Amino acid sequence: YLIEDPKYSFLKDLGLENKNIGVFNGKWEANGQVIQSLSPANGKVIAEVQTASPSDYEACAAASQDAWHYWAELPAPARGEIVRQIGDALREKLQPLGKLVSLEMGKILPEAIGEVVEYIHVCDLALGLSRSLPGTVFPSERPGHVLIEKWNPLGPIGIITAFNFPVAVFGWNSAIAMVCGDTSVWKPSDTTPLVAVAVTKIVESVLKKNDIPGAVAALCVGGKEIGQQLVQDPRMKLVSFTGSTAVGQQVGVEVQKRFGRHLLELGGNNAIVVNSDANLDLLLSAALFACAGTAGQRCTTTRRLLIHKKLYNEVVSRLKKSFAGVISKIGDPLLPETLIGPLHTPAAVEAYKRTVAEAVKQGGKIEFGGKVIEREGFFVEPTIITDLPHDSPLVKNECFAPIVYCIEIPDLETGIKYNNEVDQGLSSSLFTENLGDVFKWIGSHGSDCGIVNVNIPTNGAEVGGAFGGEKATGGGRECGSDAWKAYMRRATVTINYSGTIKLAQNIKFGD
Ligand code: NAD
Repeated sequence: YLIEDPKYSFLKDLGLENKNIGVFNGKWEANGQVIQSLSPANGKVIAEVQTASPSDYEACAAASQDAWHYWAELPAPARGEIVRQIGDALREKLQPLGKLVSLEMGKILPEAIGEVVEYIHVCDLALGLSRSLPGTVFPSERPGHVLIEKWNPLGPIGIITAFNFPVAVFGWNSAIAMVCGDTSVWKPSDTTPLVAVAVTKIVESVLKKNDIPGAVAALCVGGKEIGQQLVQDPRMKLVSFTGSTAVGQQVGVEVQKRFGRHLLELGGNNAIVVNSDANLDLLLSAALFACAGTAGQRCTTTRRLLIHKKLYNEVVSRLKKSFAGVISKIGDPLLPETLIGPLHTPAAVEAYKRTVAEAVKQGGKIEFGGKVIEREGFFVEPTIITDLPHDSPLVKNECFAPIVYCIEIPDLETGIKYNNEVDQGLSSSLFTENLGDVFKWIGSHGSDCGIVNVNIPTNGAEVGGAFGGEKATGGGRECGSDAWKAYMRRATVTINYSGTIKLAQNIKFGD
């Protein structure tokens, strides 16, 4: 196991061992099968994790519900104080946890650290929220009446997360849900179980110090079956699901069947539109990170470059040069000189190979890359493909790998049309210096995505805004703005202190 190699001693700093328990319900106990966590950089086993059996899930859900009765009664600022301490505990473990993300997920260390920082930022945001959760008083049309909007916690919620942001996505949900008064059962991706165990140990340490039931933040490592059990569980008032569109659609339907609430954060197919007046230096420096960064494994990765015909040849040729410049910087994500790490699994490498082969078959031209890199681990070349029609099924599909399609456009209107013609609606960006075009882009007939940027990449969001997308991306919103509303139940309350009954709309009933 890599955990035994002194090079990876940071794993021990996180309380990890050769064999780890992947279920926490206040106590660490698991009875499911044992899985191995692999490092995508070399395919070697980092350590083992025992996953949840169906009865382990049951214990987590029951403990989460019990803990909720206690947690929901704490004042919101007291819950905020716990989240503040979680932020501080994460600050203390920033380096080892970032290194673990890099080792287990495969993204480069600065991005992995950035992901932990994102969780810390959400803790800060949630702390402020805990002292400012609103409740509105509206003017009543009836004398001696008051009309109030009261927000209450939902109950236990389920959080199902994807492999590619194994810390941040849990953090977005957990920190906000905690100040809102919800408890949670987290089902992480079963290919990033060590990150989930390490994060839960950090949260547990804070809960323990404050004598709070650990099941406020329960963990249930497992695969699809545990996910399905959670999705069908009526105790889970909300299921927040982050993952592929195909799975998210099933989850949405299942949760809807029992009239539960769902928050879906699904696949993207994000475009940058390059306007005729775009600043190309700006564009090129953004596009490298947007298309090839994280080895194309961000939900917000740029998959389509829609380039004005005037600039098309120059953009493609300069992009090829910048892709060529990073080839020597593909490698071990923990090394400081590395800019691009591996794909996460051998299955992802197969999907990359299939997509490249299919593109060629359909008449696409590989301008750059297109090959698997012959070395240990799951590495591929960042790839630029031209000559495919803007509406070909391949271009409209999300392949979770560093492949970008370059497509020529005659004008901004066509760029917006192509941007919007895919099923997904997560992120988008326009490069322009023209103020009028900016407003066209962000307006009613502009980009139909949840994230509509100007002169920055499609990826790399801040926590202050609401994060999420439209259409097949699921419609959910997380993090900042009013995303907290998804985690609370709204009651409209009318209180009569007039001593007489008066009906709304001045309706007279009887005398
Ligand atoms: P995935 O859909 O394969 O898995 C996501 C999670 O769902 C995992 O925990 C998995 O175990 C679980 N799961 C699988 N089948 C299930 C079922 N039937 N019922 C319940 N749970 C089930 O996704 P992935 O490969 O881990 O992640 C990549 C995908 O996630 C991409 O499509 C990416 O765009 C998307 N993503 C979206 C966002 C966003 O915010 N919109 C963020 C990150 C990733």
